[in-house]
Amino acid sequence: MKHFRYLIIGGGMAADAAVHGIRKLDRNGTIGMISDEHDPPYDRPPLSKSLWKGKSIESIWRHIGDLNVDLHLGRKVVALDPAGNAVTDDAGDVYSYAKLLLATGGSVRRLPDADEHVIYFRTAADYRRLHKLSEHGADFVVIGGGFIGSEVAAALAMNGKRVTLVFPSNAIGSRVYPQTLAAFLNSYYEEKGVTLLASETVKSVHRVNGKMIVTTGSGRELAANGVVAGLGILPNTALAEQAGLKVDNGIVVDELLRTSAPDIYAAGDVANFHSAALDRRMRVEHEDNANVMGELAGRNMAGASDIYSHQPYFYSDLFDLGYEAVGELDSSLDIVEDWQETFRKGVIYYLRDGRVRGVLLWNTWGQVAAATQLIAERARHTRESLLGRIHD
Ligand code: NAP
Repeated sequence: MKHFRYLIIGGGMAADAAVHGIRKLDRNGTIGMISDEHDPPYDRPPLSKSLWKGKSIESIWRHIGDLNVDLHLGRKVVALDPAGNAVTDDAGDVYSYAKLLLATGGSVRRLPDADEHVIYFRTAADYRRLHKLSEHGADFVVIGGGFIGSEVAAALAMNGKRVTLVFPSNAIGSRVYPQTLAAFLNSYYEEKGVTLLASETVKSVHRVNGKMIVTTGSGRELAANGVVAGLGILPNTALAEQAGLKVDNGIVVDELLRTSAPDIYAAGDVANFHSAALDRRMRVEHEDNANVMGELAGRNMAGASDIYSHQPYFYSDLFDLGYEAVGELDSSLDIVEDWQETFRKGVIYYLRDGRVRGVLLWNTWGQVAAATQLIAERARHTRESLLGRIHD
């Protein structure tokens, strides 16, 4: 049995950030990290963005090697014993800890009837598979109109591929962007050469004579060299549940990122925390949350008592459009659109009961702090009071 002062389960961005947090306060305490991926920690956003615009894969690594971490890659933790401060991996190895971090992230949602060659795009290994296919193949089907679907479809199209994007709702990103903007995105993607099959589901994906055949709900058959799916993720809570930790849409943590069990913390996509600015519990599946929350969890594991009060932001790149955003981006909220140039540059405010809950900074840069402050103020607003409020 190996013993660590700090043991981290997961090898993503939150896990890596926790190591940095620990090392800020404790230079010598032993740190173990167990990850079911075969790659050491890396930045995830470039996989669907900059790596398709000429950046090298070498740019993604987070260089954890310099921080004296005992890495156990390709291992899945299958049991957690909170009373005995120990975990067991799928090879039967047992590790004990003084402090444990669950940074287990999420698992991709899968299609019920699909060939194993479908790439549910999430990891560096998925990127390598898709990149290799794109070196030879010309035709790709991308399933899902969320973050992965919209970014990967744009990435492939920018690399000269014929892309068909299939998604169940009527417009790209329809859960996030106002209807007007989502409808514009549909026409923008079509202008860029992407074929859209909106309001369409996928019945099955099979491999026939080396080609992938996607059969849609309405009976169309699409042949492709590669099929990518981004259908959302489910938080990896099984270990926490088995151990009796409090789980409710993720692993429930307090403001210090402690779970309901002593000595066990959680951070990143899997952690359900109370957002002070929005005054509600939530999970956030974006990079900034993983980085800031992971580091704070690490510091607290090493003895600090810092409160997680950060309001995370996120960003996306869609061809030559891009944005940063803060708070609740939910297209079912009341929306105020403030365009400097329609659908090209502007700020969109999301309100509930007259209070700003989220801000989308569409091709508007350097305003994340202003947007965060506006949400935190919780003042009542109208369309008139918001127009012109934030701009770059
Ligand atoms: P997502 O943004 O939640 O989008 C999932 C999409 O899949 C939605 O369009 C959904 O459609 C669709 N869908 C669900 N079930 C489907 C099915 N059976 N057949 C076809 N479509 C289906 O999730 P994601 O794009 O997979 O991204 C995964 C995670 O990575 C997310 O947590 C995301 O936040 C994160 N991520 C973030 C960024 C960024 O911050 N820029 C970039 C990439 C990934 P409906 O909406 O109509 O249900």
